[in-house]
Amino acid sequence: MPYDAYEPVIGLEVHVQLDTESKIFSPDSTAFGADPNAQVDPVSLGHPGTLPVLNGRAVHHALRLGVATHAKISRRSVFARKHYFYPDLPKGYQISQYDTPICYDGYVEIEREDAPSSPDEEAGDDADPTRGASLKRVGLTRIHLEEDAGKSIHPEADAASLIDYNRCGVPLVEIVTEPDLRSPHEAYQFLEKLRQIVRYLQVSDGNMEEGSLRCDANVSVRPRGHSDFGTRTELKNLNSMRHVEDALAYEITRQIAARERGASVSQQTLLWDPDAGVTRPMRTKEEAHDYRYFPDPDLVPITVDEDRLDAVRASLPEMPDARRRRFIEDVGLPPYDAGVLTEEREVADYFEETLQQVFKRTKGGDTQAQAKAVSNHIMTDVLRVLNEDDRSVDDLPVTPERLAQLVYLRLQDRVSSSAGQEVFERMMEEPEKSAGKIADEYDLIQVSDRDAIESVVASVVDENEEKVRTYLDGKEGLLGFFIGQVMQRFDGSPNPKLVRELLNEHLERRRAEA
Ligand code: ADP
Ligand code: MG
Repeated sequence: MPYDAYEPVIGLEVHVQLDTESKIFSPDSTAFGADPNAQVDPVSLGHPGTLPVLNGRAVHHALRLGVATHAKISRRSVFARKHYFYPDLPKGYQISQYDTPICYDGYVEIEREDAPSSPDEEAGDDADPTRGASLKRVGLTRIHLEEDAGKSIHPEADAASLIDYNRCGVPLVEIVTEPDLRSPHEAYQFLEKLRQIVRYLQVSDGNMEEGSLRCDANVSVRPRGHSDFGTRTELKNLNSMRHVEDALAYEITRQIAARERGASVSQQTLLWDPDAGVTRPMRTKEEAHDYRYFPDPDLVPITVDEDRLDAVRASLPEMPDARRRRFIEDVGLPPYDAGVLTEEREVADYFEETLQQVFKRTKGGDTQAQAKAVSNHIMTDVLRVLNEDDRSVDDLPVTPERLAQLVYLRLQDRVSSSAGQEVFERMMEEPEKSAGKIADEYDLIQVSDRDAIESVVASVVDENEEKVRTYLDGKEGLLGFFIGQVMQRFDGSPNPKLVRELLNEHLERRRAEA
């Protein structure tokens, strides 16, 4: 069978580190980057006689994530001990959740790539009229709370391994998806969306490279049109979204090739080797794990009543999809702009604050054009410096108030678009000066005095008889030459729109005279 006669089936298990000051069951700090074993207490080391006390903030974060992903919330959920031996797990068991995850049956929407392959997959789909493309729901089987384990370090030159227990007891949620993803790119999109959601909620920084978002991927292939799933493998050591996509693509090809050879795919755990670009077996996964789960007798169940749930709902920010839709429908931005501006919550806030500041100055008028002007400056100037310098919009010297000054100058046509860019650059360097002051000081205010511009236009046309004739003979590209001449000769910065308009007038007058 040709390769595309097979369909990949993918489900992800994602661990997200929750942003809390202390650990999930003890008061120790969770701050990143401390010296090894500087943040260990008797509870996270599992000393006899210690008792865990649940961190309320971690529960709140998990509930917010559940509500934001349309999940059902367990009214009562318990912690369970998951037993296994590993040097980075000093207690000999991990406190996790087993048969009662705190949230279950949720979903995240991603953009659909292809038409649904079978009718049952269409159920639950929702078209987003503002986007034109249809969306695909990726089911979340469960979201549960658990503690992280420590970290083993294997220094290359040394035979011995080292252990850092700082991470023991750091709060995590594990998010398990249904086997709903159908391509490596969909897996990538899902992770991107999930990261956006946890960042909007401020429950985690979602940084994959630093390990605050970790993903294991389960993948199998089946002949297209079949409903039974094939045998899956589980991929680990995926430290970036790119790795997830690459490892899945490799593994799908490997599984198809095996089937084509008539070999079978065995259920196993594989490690992605990003340098070699291959997956390698880690261990063969048994049919069922025997973790000897049992309810942790030291912890009371988590109970969630209606009041608590109301408080969680009320604490949610506007989520990215809703915000994007509002930017399109109410603010009047093009869909592309709305997508870019809502990618990060801080940037969307910055946009809205700037727009409010602009409205204060314009007091009415074409609000849609004003929004587009703000959007243009953010998409070009602001996002460029954020990317170049890898900084956050919150500590940009050009505050929303100051960007609004610049946008207002542009809206009034007092600076040209290129001068606007220069004003922005200088505002970055000179945080105490307003846009207007900078434009003045650097002679960037554009002249819109019709008479002044017209006299220069007239002399340029008069002094270039031959070029005028060529232009009138049909070589319209010469308009650029005339514009250049006027800009050069003019003392100051003439409004380019006016220059163009007046030149057209003069040249057409010549045509009429000829
Ligand atoms: P386990 O108990 O071994 O962890 P689960 O049933 O919890 O297995 O599934 C783990 C993950 O694997 C889930 O994300 C699920 O969607 C995915 N998965 C299950 N079966 C398949 C399959 N045949 N192909 C691809 N992914 C699968
Ligand atoms: Mg599982």
